[in-house]
Amino acid sequence: MHIIGHLIGGKIVSGIDREQDIINPSTNKTIARVSLASRKTVEEAIAAAAAAYPEWRDTPPLKRARILFRLKNLLEENADKICALLTREHGKVLGDAMGELQRGIENVEYACGAPGLLKGEHSRNVGPAIDSWSEFQPLGVCAGITPFNFPVMLPLWMWPMAIACGNTFVLKPSERDPTAALYIAELGLEAGVPEGVLNVVNGDSEAVDTLLADPRIQAVSFVGSTPVAEHVYTSGTASLKRVQALGGSKNHAIVMPDADLDNAATALMGAAYGSCGERCMAISVVVAVGDATADALVGKLQEHIAGLKVGDGFDNSSDMGPLITRAHLERVTDYINRGVEEGAELVVDGRGLTVPGFEEGNYLGACLFDRVEPGMAIHLDEIFGPVLCVMRVDSMQQAMDIIDAHQYGNGTCIFTRDGEAARYFSDHIRIGMVGINVPLPVPAAYHSFGGWKNSLFGDLGAYGPDSVRFYTKRKTVTQRWPGGGVREGVQFSFPAHD
Ligand code: NAD
Repeated sequence: MHIIGHLIGGKIVSGIDREQDIINPSTNKTIARVSLASRKTVEEAIAAAAAAYPEWRDTPPLKRARILFRLKNLLEENADKICALLTREHGKVLGDAMGELQRGIENVEYACGAPGLLKGEHSRNVGPAIDSWSEFQPLGVCAGITPFNFPVMLPLWMWPMAIACGNTFVLKPSERDPTAALYIAELGLEAGVPEGVLNVVNGDSEAVDTLLADPRIQAVSFVGSTPVAEHVYTSGTASLKRVQALGGSKNHAIVMPDADLDNAATALMGAAYGSCGERCMAISVVVAVGDATADALVGKLQEHIAGLKVGDGFDNSSDMGPLITRAHLERVTDYINRGVEEGAELVVDGRGLTVPGFEEGNYLGACLFDRVEPGMAIHLDEIFGPVLCVMRVDSMQQAMDIIDAHQYGNGTCIFTRDGEAARYFSDHIRIGMVGINVPLPVPAAYHSFGGWKNSLFGDLGAYGPDSVRFYTKRKTVTQRWPGGGVREGVQFSFPAHD
């Protein structure tokens, strides 16, 4: 059985730690085992990153960027292999894996602009013959911790920009589907990332807690569920690190009576059921304004769901693959049962689905609830499965109140033809990423990604301009050279400009 090890100081290391099975979610068969790094193993990775830091810090940004240009090419050349690794361990359909990889590559492209992005600010003559400038220096060793649902894109949100800024890095991918992340890191080394600059430790909470406590780690980027994000944020900041911790979500779409309902229904299908609903930007609640809107929309969604094909991710005709684990399938099924018990109307029931040839897989058909009410468990909690809830209200304001009252604030969208309503909605809604007739408003790589409320702990979002600020610290230098006739005597008052 293949053992998935760690990448430490440029070498693959395995056979020294506890191990865990890697399971193909489409068959529930064990396909590999992954090493779970002990404290000692993580400390070795941190030591390798710390040793590589001084030289990498002083490597010109242009040279660092050229390595990332080569990485972009290698990612494109090896796209089929990367996506096959991803689908085998995660289960998502290959076309979706390609989309994920492409969005990850866009983050590498943005990081290739490091020389420009790291340019400082300069002011001449802030005082007589005094010049001042601000520059953006790397932090040192940074760490990234990623969830299972985007095993390729999320590591690419983090380490390319972190190392482009001159930091060294330790990545801890999800222990459920780590192979693609490890392979991409190896491609980084092939592209020219020096040994020790990028390290990967596989593992569970022991590895994470070691990273959070170690004083050599200066900053931690985390993406995962909200309870773990909160733990990472509180522990990491308690040990005086810079931390950004992105958490879970419950994303609502408002459908107004004037919306193009055909368009809204097709858009919602992909947003709710794509990747089996295992996306932090998935739409899991539709708030329909008016019963006529709700009735028409539910009818159209039912028709689309009847044509949705659930199956193995390698089958090109599949729209939706399996859920990540058997335990997660059971958890999602429990929520569906609770929704029925709490009185919501289960219009489409995807429970009990079997896929011929993959009878043991973690398959669940698309589920659609109507008449969901605030306070029901299926509305309060993130389900992270192919379950779409429809709520009915009488006005846009009522819909906005439901969204604003929710604990999560990642994404939202509105379907309407009314520009004034859309503008009011995007201006006032308490959510970090807003779509107008766009169901998955994931910002482009040159913007930044971040939710509000319990979807993000920390001050800066992921990737884009925020990530340049996250992975650097500002230094401001004020300079005067004696000469030019400016000589002053001793001054005891605070320097000020007259
Ligand atoms: P998770 O929180 O279980 O795991 C995320 C990471 O934390 C993994 O690397 C895991 O090993 C580690 N971890 C898990 N439990 C831990 C513990 N007790 N102590 C320390 N570390 C621990 O999340 P998941 O199930 O892998 O991913 C799904 C979640 O991620 C969903 O909630 C989803 O919304 C969220 N997510 C959020 C975003 C975003 O951008 N906001 C993006 C993708 C996924």
